Amino acid sequence: MPSTLLSKVWDAHTVRRLPNGQTQLFVGLHLVHEVTTPQAFDMLRARGWRVRYPSRTIATVDHIVPTRDQRRPFVDVMAEDMLSALERNCREAGIQLLDLNSGSQGIVHVIGPELGLTQPGMTIACGDSHTSTHGAFGAVAFGIGTSQVRDVLASQCLALDPLKVRRIEVNGRLAPGVYAKDIILEIIRRLGVNGGVGFAYEYAGDTIGGLSMDERMTICNMSIEGGARVGYVNPDQTTFDYLRGRRFAPQGDAFDAAVTWWRSMASDPGASYDDVVKLDAAAMRPTVTWGINPGQSVYVDERLPRPADVESAARESLTEALEFMGFHAGDPIKGTRIDVAFVGSCTKARLSDLREAAKIVRGRRVAPHVKALVVPGSQAVRAAAEREGLDRVFIEAGFDWRGAGCSMCLAMNPDRLEGRQVCASSSNRNFKGRQGSPTGRTLLMSPAMVAAAAVAGEVVDVREISERELAGVR
Ligand code: SF4
Repeated sequence: MPSTLLSKVWDAHTVRRLPNGQTQLFVGLHLVHEVTTPQAFDMLRARGWRVRYPSRTIATVDHIVPTRDQRRPFVDVMAEDMLSALERNCREAGIQLLDLNSGSQGIVHVIGPELGLTQPGMTIACGDSHTSTHGAFGAVAFGIGTSQVRDVLASQCLALDPLKVRRIEVNGRLAPGVYAKDIILEIIRRLGVNGGVGFAYEYAGDTIGGLSMDERMTICNMSIEGGARVGYVNPDQTTFDYLRGRRFAPQGDAFDAAVTWWRSMASDPGASYDDVVKLDAAAMRPTVTWGINPGQSVYVDERLPRPADVESAARESLTEALEFMGFHAGDPIKGTRIDVAFVGSCTKARLSDLREAAKIVRGRRVAPHVKALVVPGSQAVRAAAEREGLDRVFIEAGFDWRGAGCSMCLAMNPDRLEGRQVCASSSNRNFKGRQGSPTGRTLLMSPAMVAAAAVAGEVVDVREISERELAGVR
């Protein structure tokens, strides 16, 4: 019987079926960081348990690290305590910690792939919602809570409900100025922020097949924002080419043997799906969120929806979002003045993302009223960008060039919005208070659109950037 990748990976990692209908699933790789682990390690300690597979567990520090001054001890005592706890826990358990001195530190969903830890056919777990990122490699990757982190540390297993599979086929050629971020924002807008509940999203079609691994990671990263438990792309030559030679990937003959197995884990032609959705990439346009969840978005040349434009069930949240954002139904999103521009996060802080933003910024200046920052996703991304001179491009334009970390995606560190500031952000969540200020406002968009907004001082259409009269801010 032809099978999906989800079903093959699930079956290969099943320890047993539980009486409650869940599956006890073995976890091939457990990625841990400083925020969701201190209590989990304490719970283990209180029961006298040990970490079951330290060699299948890798740690880094990302959420709380300051991105401007990373000297220890951190000024923020709580952040220093969290990192110290992680260091102690990793030391005691024999877990490898990729810390600030390692040269390999970074956002957990950036370093896993770039080090070759993330591989096709794996099960992966991490105490962070955006673990779905790793599905770009044909892994089945779950974001988990603190008590599940404890379970995985203790047993290397998770108890999980079965999932349905929705295949999302995207075909056609993306227009210039339209990116992977726009694809996933479109998917979430169409299917809804709860549309994926109970599903794994399998992304397919010639557009997805033509994307780089960085772009596939952007799409899988935001699967969770569409309600899906996991998202994945079937592994192919692009996947294998990315992994070859990476530090934790198989080497030599073992790599070729791994490729044979990885290929076999892809969904079979003729596999059946619980749902199939087809989208036309050629019709997509640069997308910007205007509301308080990632499904509340419009094309940059559209106007904000009016209550009459949406189903009655969505009217209350539309009104709430418009009120919170201080926007009016029917207004254009283009021209919205911004205060902050943020290029960063596990969605969009890889080298290719910085390159796209730099293309827009090169030779231009950030608008005088805008605070702009670029936060590479990892120390490796930062070093590679500096080798290309991207840091100079950003600094000369007036951006801050920072150390690696989650930064303003979540603001569990000094990078945060103040008051009612509006932030053009390449990150993945625009919930109330997400970027540190309870009243701060987030507009999600692609890094190129963030860069264009930084320069113009307002939301602009990146497709028009060369035609716009930018001389006044150059
Ligand atoms: S960048 Fe944001 S979404 Fe990604 S791991 Fe950090 S806080 Fe979570």
